[in-house]
Amino acid sequence: MTRVLVVEDDPQLVRALVLNMRARRYGVDAAPDGTTALRLAQARRPDVVVLDLGLPDMDGVHIIRTLRGWTRIPILVLSARRASGEKVAALDAGADDYITKPFSMDELLARLRAAVRRTETEPDAAAATLVTTDDFTVDLTAKKVRRSGRDIRLTPTEWHLLEILVTHPGRLISQKHLLREVWGEARGNKTNYLRVYMAQLRRKLETDPSHPRYLVTEAGMGYRFEG
Ligand code: CA
Repeated sequence: MTRVLVVEDDPQLVRALVLNMRARRYGVDAAPDGTTALRLAQARRPDVVVLDLGLPDMDGVHIIRTLRGWTRIPILVLSARRASGEKVAALDAGADDYITKPFSMDELLARLRAAVRRTETEPDAAAATLVTTDDFTVDLTAKKVRRSGRDIRLTPTEWHLLEILVTHPGRLISQKHLLREVWGEARGNKTNYLRVYMAQLRRKLETDPSHPRYLVTEAGMGYRFEG
């Protein structure tokens, strides 16, 4: 049974989440505040955490950092509408995904399944070296990209960016994370670098670069590879 830890201080929402998750045979624990959440995470070892960022006793981002000190379990963040700085901070602290309130229960459950599935497939990730889309193929071992039967030349920077995105399919990767990984700490705020290189990648890989199907922008947040 997949165990979920729900961290949320709104009792009505907790009730709805717990009911829906139990109906789908998840084991659920609920914590109304950060202190309880950190205690239950240690004691119950959940497989996934659903975390509201606005809690009465501590900042949700602090909870993410604390959890990331000892566990890689997926963390799905619940965030208030338009608090995009908050979402970026949560992703940078190590959250896996976020969903904006108010959300539909179906969407939340779909994100939850996806988060759990990613951890289940992680041990095999090294073996899956070929990423295939309808339009191009990325060979992670040979470091080659083929499109319409032809090799596509990528610069090392383009390759590095693409590699990070395609190895996390469906997952939002923050601008800050990409900048840090590809250009290092000093360039952490040069989002214009990212825009330039993402545009180049799209020109090489997308059928319609101005309406990308695979290398998707989440405005102000980051990028997502849709496989
Ligand atoms: Ca709250």
